[in-house]
Amino acid sequence: MSHFICTTCGVQYPESQKEPAECLICNEERQYVNPSGQEWTTLEAMQQSGLYVNEILQEEDGLFSITTKPSFAIGQTAYLIQNEGFNVLWDCITYLDEKTIEEIRRLGGIQAIALSHPHYYSTQVEWAETFNAPIYIHEDDREWVVRPSDNIIFWSGESFELARGITLHRLGGHFKGGAVLHWESGNQHKGVLLTGDIIQVVADRRWVSFMYSYPNLIPLPAEKVREMADHVKDLSFNRIYNAFHRVVAERADEAVQKSADRYIKALEGTLFTT
Ligand SMILES: [Zn+2]
Ligand SMILES: [Zn+2]
Repeated sequence: MSHFICTTCGVQYPESQKEPAECLICNEERQYVNPSGQEWTTLEAMQQSGLYVNEILQEEDGLFSITTKPSFAIGQTAYLIQNEGFNVLWDCITYLDEKTIEEIRRLGGIQAIALSHPHYYSTQVEWAETFNAPIYIHEDDREWVVRPSDNIIFWSGESFELARGITLHRLGGHFKGGAVLHWESGNQHKGVLLTGDIIQVVADRRWVSFMYSYPNLIPLPAEKVREMADHVKDLSFNRIYNAFHRVVAERADEAVQKSADRYIKALEGTLFTT
């Protein structure tokens, strides 16, 4: 019996004798099935291969990124936030080994795990069981949880205070339950928003974007983008981290508003003529 992992999205399935027939997350227009066919691995096989290490880097006071090298599946970064003795893991990665566990324990362990959306569910249950932490997922994404666990807590509504100074906000868009994390004391108390793929930091770091599907380039409706930008309007933040080491280092709040305006103009045909 094994917990199989899809090698394209990195999401782990419940224990089974045989490989699952297909991956629910990848058989959908916000992801894709590897053109060479569906493939599976296991965490044990990844550990035994000796191929992977997790790199833990301090990004700023109280914030560490955790990234697997070489890149595996989608290749996202998870973040560990140290907030008044309560550590939160924001989003998750598939690879986990003893060295990572030791390093994270040295940083104070993990008291809660929160996810932006299903593409980063990875081996969240392994992490939760290892660090004895609850996992917070918005209830609107319940159908995408392929490995159920008693550790998972589904939150509802538009926002949820995880700990003092750490609040999850449901913006939807990319996924119905798509959430961002607002960390009030981050960036020397100017505030940080960790956004996963929900608000995406683009190549030009003064701007962000919003998409239904990133790999298949499907945009979101103007109305939805306006709603997402409006939701974060009253939050105090100056910096955004996405899931791929892209950062809007300052005036990120303004970047979200002007990017939403530009996006809507593009959709409405008033931004340019080509
Ligand atoms: Zn998959
Ligand atoms: Zn995504």
